[in-house]
Amino acid sequence: MPTLLHNAFVCTGLAGGFIENGAVLIEGTKIAWVGSLSTLPPQAATTKRKDLGGRVVIPGLINTHAHGGLSMHRGCCDDGDLFQWASALAPHTASLTIEDNRAGCTLAVMEMVRNGITTACDCTRYGAGVFASVASEIGMRSLSGALANSPELRPNGRPNWPLALDETKEAIQVYQGNGLCRFYLGGHSPYSCTPQLLTEVKREADALGLHFVLHVAENRRENEMILAQYGKSPLAWLAELGVLDRRSILAHCVWLDEKDVDILADTGAGVAHNPASNAKLASGIAPVPALRRGGIPVGLGTDSTLSNNCLDLFQEMKLSVLLQRAASLDGMIMGASDAFTMATIEGARVLGWEAEIGSLEAGKEADLVVLSLDHPLGLTAERVLSDIVYHAGPQHVHSVMIAGRTIFEGGCFSMIDEAEIRSAIHKHYQTSEMNKETSDA
Ligand SMILES: [Zn+2]
Repeated sequence: MPTLLHNAFVCTGLAGGFIENGAVLIEGTKIAWVGSLSTLPPQAATTKRKDLGGRVVIPGLINTHAHGGLSMHRGCCDDGDLFQWASALAPHTASLTIEDNRAGCTLAVMEMVRNGITTACDCTRYGAGVFASVASEIGMRSLSGALANSPELRPNGRPNWPLALDETKEAIQVYQGNGLCRFYLGGHSPYSCTPQLLTEVKREADALGLHFVLHVAENRRENEMILAQYGKSPLAWLAELGVLDRRSILAHCVWLDEKDVDILADTGAGVAHNPASNAKLASGIAPVPALRRGGIPVGLGTDSTLSNNCLDLFQEMKLSVLLQRAASLDGMIMGASDAFTMATIEGARVLGWEAEIGSLEAGKEADLVVLSLDHPLGLTAERVLSDIVYHAGPQHVHSVMIAGRTIFEGGCFSMIDEAEIRSAIHKHYQTSEMNKETSDA
């Protein structure tokens, strides 16, 4: 039976889309209608009704870059730049098993949902289907896959190609039919993959009609390495290899020059911007205003709990604006609507999922978050947008609906027993090889 969510302040995520005394009609997994209660279509008159008590409804937040499987390592390597951090981290992840990955992904998905994230693009080295499996059990939407690497180019590298391809094909068979999962093929980065590997992964991704994920231009030293090796910037090098197009999702893109921005605009690739991770690993601040001026889709990402350490897009929205203003001394360079757009519809565009998710519109999937926001002066479009980006946090998340199903409400998950799962994860962690290495380090 269709359900009408009413008595809500609805933010559709589209320009000017703020509806006081709004309502959302849900039919099956989709949104059938959104609007002001006074314009409710006649067929909605007899539906089941849910009073949201004046709360705010926003599109589900979209995390364009995460590494859920590393969640058990939160806080184990908090200092150093990207390369110091990666070296310090290597011994802790060397023996990571699929079970460790599953436990980490479970913690990550629960944290993301609590924080109003309804879709995440997750990266791992092994177990391309693990995040999809866990997310499906909890009811979250995912774009999952594994990043291939060339073992000789990484500390403690182990080969994971063509294993990642086989795992991804298997995961597609098992999970893609459930309506919540999509998959990609990826490479770790231009400095940890040979050109042969990058082009092979991209070719296989194209053959399967999948997106291609890569970390690019994250740290200045990466650009120096690629320049020394190939005589070009990472972006120019990847464009020459022919691996950039509309189905490329590039994480970070911090160190870009004007030509690189043009390359991104020409190829149609999207960017996953991770402001907290880039700041914590002393990588820098991505040129987001220039990217967006060039029409390049930019979404927000949390990266992992090792480099952040929260999977919280409210923080990323706020930081994305504050860092640009602090660096440019220009208080108008970016605002709340830019951040909200990146966390919703533009993030969906980066993942190639904008026809189905990212905004509250009739015909789209019913992925939405209900926030308990209460402004002392009353709710208006300006105050709600300001609160979402500069004031709100996980403590304001009242409930989360994905594909028309309420999977989290009032602090509880509807499809899983959180206490039981947490207890099993703690038990697993106490006996895992990884934990021994962490405590020995
Ligand atoms: Zn990453």
